Amino acid sequence: AAARTDAARTLGGPPAAAALLDAATRLAATLPVTPSIAFIRVGDDPASESYVRGKAKKAAELGLHSAVYALPDDTTQADLHALIGTLNADHGVHGVLLQLPLPAHLNADAALACIDPRKDVDGLHPVSAGLLWQGQPGLRPCTPAGVMALLDHYRIPVAGQHAVIVGRSALVGRPLAGLLLNADATVTVAHRATPDLGDVTRRADLLIVAAGQAHLITPDMVRPGATVIDVGINRVPTDTGKARLTGDVHPDVAAVAGALTPVPGGVGPMTVAQLMMNTVQAAQNQTVHGHAD
Ligand code: NDP
Repeated sequence: AAARTDAARTLGGPPAAAALLDAATRLAATLPVTPSIAFIRVGDDPASESYVRGKAKKAAELGLHSAVYALPDDTTQADLHALIGTLNADHGVHGVLLQLPLPAHLNADAALACIDPRKDVDGLHPVSAGLLWQGQPGLRPCTPAGVMALLDHYRIPVAGQHAVIVGRSALVGRPLAGLLLNADATVTVAHRATPDLGDVTRRADLLIVAAGQAHLITPDMVRPGATVIDVGINRVPTDTGKARLTGDVHPDVAAVAGALTPVPGGVGPMTVAQLMMNTVQAAQNQTVHGHAD
């Protein structure tokens, strides 16, 4: 078979993540304190355990302080809120991250709303979401903010561009719409009730896909030359029995797009890097700007 010629420039995550981590390290060095983050996880979900371990390891690499609170599966809502309250009151803790998902008997939204918004390094508190939508400064959700940092790193224009987002979750799609709007893009958000998805995605200069559906976006759905950001992380089984990671964008899109993020190695590394930046910024806000009570 003839080799496929990929038109798309590859927007790799690691160099952009390294630049963001470097900026976080430089900002941390200007502060009067060592930024400190507390991780809370509940139960024994192996994925949550591995995510928290990875984030704590990255914090340690940067010289930030971190502590992991691993609560048992039978933790009550009141226990969880009590721990968050203790961490909110602790001036030595600048960031509080509640690793999701929680066991089914716990209400994640109620717990997230207990976090002091100044310490909301995951950017999922309703106050953080409101500040984002009002175009005011605040802590932003890590994956969408990481996408913006990746676009900035590769000098992809955003202002005046038509950005189409596939997905409207509180974690990715919605906050990304706010960030792109704040950056002067014209924004369209598509979801499961969008009748003709391809008709919408073909209008995008900048197509960002966060649907959690392997290879949802095929080459016919992409305008030639468009920038395509693939947020999706899907585990697909292979012949060897070991799961392989793949994105929401079909690999053949590389022949049509102008630029494309790989999966893995695209948006993924940006999320943790942005969390580190958020932690340093939270520490800065609590110590330098005099907001501490
Ligand atoms: P959710 O399942 O919460 O949301 C998915 C969204 O995509 C929903 O709004 C849904 O629409 C929409 N959607 C799903 N299928 C279709 C379809 N066929 N057509 C149009 N819209 C569709 O997922 P998340 O936002 O949490 O995550 C999305 C993906 O990003 C996942 O693969 C996840 O693993 C990955 N992810 C990656 C991260 C990273 O670090 N790179 C971090 C976070 C997530 P509707 O609202 O109508 O149901």
